[in-house]
Amino acid sequence: MSQAIHTLCDMSVDDLAALMKDWGQPAYRAKQIYEHVYVNLADSPDAMSNLPLALRGRLSQERPLGSLELARVQTGDKGKTHKALFRLPDDAPVESVLMIYEDRATVCVSTQSGCAMKCSFCATGQLGFTRNLTAGQMVEQVLWAAREVRNAGSEVKALSNVVFMGMGEPFNNYDNWWAAVQRLHDPVGFDMGARNFTVSTVGVVTGIRRLAQEKMEVNLAVSLHAANDDLRTRLVPANKKYPIPAILEAVRDYIQATRRRVSFEYVLLQGVNDGPQEARALTELLRGLLCHVNLIPWNPVPGTPLGPSERRRVLDFQKILHEHHVPCTVRVQRGVDIAAACGQLAGAHP
Ligand code: SF4
Repeated sequence: MSQAIHTLCDMSVDDLAALMKDWGQPAYRAKQIYEHVYVNLADSPDAMSNLPLALRGRLSQERPLGSLELARVQTGDKGKTHKALFRLPDDAPVESVLMIYEDRATVCVSTQSGCAMKCSFCATGQLGFTRNLTAGQMVEQVLWAAREVRNAGSEVKALSNVVFMGMGEPFNNYDNWWAAVQRLHDPVGFDMGARNFTVSTVGVVTGIRRLAQEKMEVNLAVSLHAANDDLRTRLVPANKKYPIPAILEAVRDYIQATRRRVSFEYVLLQGVNDGPQEARALTELLRGLLCHVNLIPWNPVPGTPLGPSERRRVLDFQKILHEHHVPCTVRVQRGVDIAAACGQLAGAHP
């Protein structure tokens, strides 16, 4: 589906050049506006001080910066985690989470409002699917985070990583998602390095195969969560369409084509998928693959019968993976106190 071009965040520098020509403006205005959006991080045309007043006014009327309305920002983890709730023009919620660490700042971006995948442990899945976001709406979330980092007064002065792990399945909105990545990668503008992007998929095989063909190499993470199809289908219903063998075949082909390491996400649920048997099955599955496993301690989601794995079980699981030479880390929990952690995004703010 092609995206509507109606805000500055939806426009490439070439789109802007065409618009300026149309409006009878000198050609250099396009680059000035583009730099205001992506380099100076202007939050509206009013802030573009070297543009004539009339042009600023016309932009505000006809080409505002974006279409997301920032409804609320919450902070947690002593100011190091910021969760934004945005509203689409039809009021549907979109959430983004900025995490500031000692050496980097990462924003987790949504690609859809809600999600159709219905993973049993995820608050977004319970919300259901509302709509795909445009590329511009994904770009807007990143620019919001970049401004937050700039204003946070922490050691890290600029946004360094973008992970598409918020609401939605990115590969079900591939064209818009990829347009957003390319825009943010543009050296004339935001200039984020290809390897600073990570996309997370529930295992949409067509998307993995398409990504393998792209020239620009972004990081791929696959949400696995179980090592056999029966259990995975219970946790991730999309497994019926994309079962484990099909996913692994696509991942093998991806690694062969790109020579890039793939991450597997594995959320740990007490007594469901966190036993030694499941850990050993996982090592069997991933043996010989150029990969890394992220173990994710589950974060509470109301209305599910699931519980988080005890710390001891998390460490035992990790130990088995290490013993079988499967590289693996336990993800540091962020944003639990403001429902901003993995799987908690549901557009609800206390
Ligand atoms: S875990 Fe990801 S794919 Fe699954 S329902 Fe939640 S947002 Fe969708």
